[in-house]
Amino acid sequence: MTISFFSTQPYDKRFFEAAEASVGINFVWNVHPLNQQTAAATTSEIICIFVNDVCDKAVIDILAKQGVKLIALRCAGFNNVDLEAAAHHHISIVRVPAYSPYAVAEHTLALLLTVNRKTHKAYNRVREQNFSLDGLLGFDLHGKTIGVIGTGNIGQVFCNMMLGMGCHVLAFDLVANKKMEQAGVEYTHLIDLFERSDIISLHCPLNEATQHIINAQSLGMMKDGVVIINSSRGALIETKDAIKSLKSGKIGALAIDVYEQESSLFFRDLSSSIIADDTIQRLMSFPNVLVTAHQAFFTHEAMTQIASITLNNIIAWKAGHPANLVK
Ligand code: NAD
Repeated sequence: MTISFFSTQPYDKRFFEAAEASVGINFVWNVHPLNQQTAAATTSEIICIFVNDVCDKAVIDILAKQGVKLIALRCAGFNNVDLEAAAHHHISIVRVPAYSPYAVAEHTLALLLTVNRKTHKAYNRVREQNFSLDGLLGFDLHGKTIGVIGTGNIGQVFCNMMLGMGCHVLAFDLVANKKMEQAGVEYTHLIDLFERSDIISLHCPLNEATQHIINAQSLGMMKDGVVIINSSRGALIETKDAIKSLKSGKIGALAIDVYEQESSLFFRDLSSSIIADDTIQRLMSFPNVLVTAHQAFFTHEAMTQIASITLNNIIAWKAGHPANLVK
């Protein structure tokens, strides 16, 4: 069995090759992302893609012509795949619904603590022998109200962390989670969450209902100085509106691990390149904005699970009893 990987990084090879020996699969590693050009060169029946690979109708039409029968996502989100086009061509889609919610929730906490307590600035300052504290003032998380949008695998872990920090946790999800309610989370409607939260953290999937859930209108309902954390998907935030709110002071701090236009930037070293994206440059120019490049999933435990579950998904599909299908 041969699997063509797209957007391959050295660490993908490391974790998948560690799992390969036990299952006897041949891997074809493509550093390039999946797009119309690379789809046309595909010869494997099975392809394995990641968060920023383009898998729209045009690409799926080409993959079908090339004889692709299975698209295995080595991630949880599937917003980049045109499910209708895949169903039309009888191409199955599998994903890794949960690998380590702790990895993402812990990185979210790191983003919040860093942007609040400015440890990234303190680190650089001290190395320059600048031991002054001016400009490093933060606030106690204890006693603050934090709004969590989406209380699935990751949102639940994050809610528990915030309860542990002594925060009042508000949540919005399509269905309230009883266990979370018992733990002390207060479910409410979205407008109430926007109005009452000191901090808002996004843990819902990207879909039609959630795209640009943080926009001029919702930002208008929020407290002045609100802190927004996004470790879910970039397009949950309308970036231009966030920039306006950063300029006005409505947003007190923004920490993001994902960015709407990240596909042309993230997962590569562009340190010697001219960045054409003025929006990310403007974002990164704010002293109260912290950007990480989609690394929340990136722990040893999560990578091990991603490789193992992806390969198990493929083996199960090949054996005729598919698991973790996306429908
Ligand atoms: P999950 O499916 O377990 O949970 C998602 C939750 O969002 C569910 O409870 C669902 O009911 C809720 N939801 C759906 N639509 C909603 C809406 N309109 N409003 C509010 N809530 C809604 O998923 P998860 O494993 O917790 O992952 C959440 C998201 O995190 C993923 O969709 C993915 O985009 C993102 N993610 C990011 C990284 C990263 O490295 N930054 C890694 C993994 C996942």
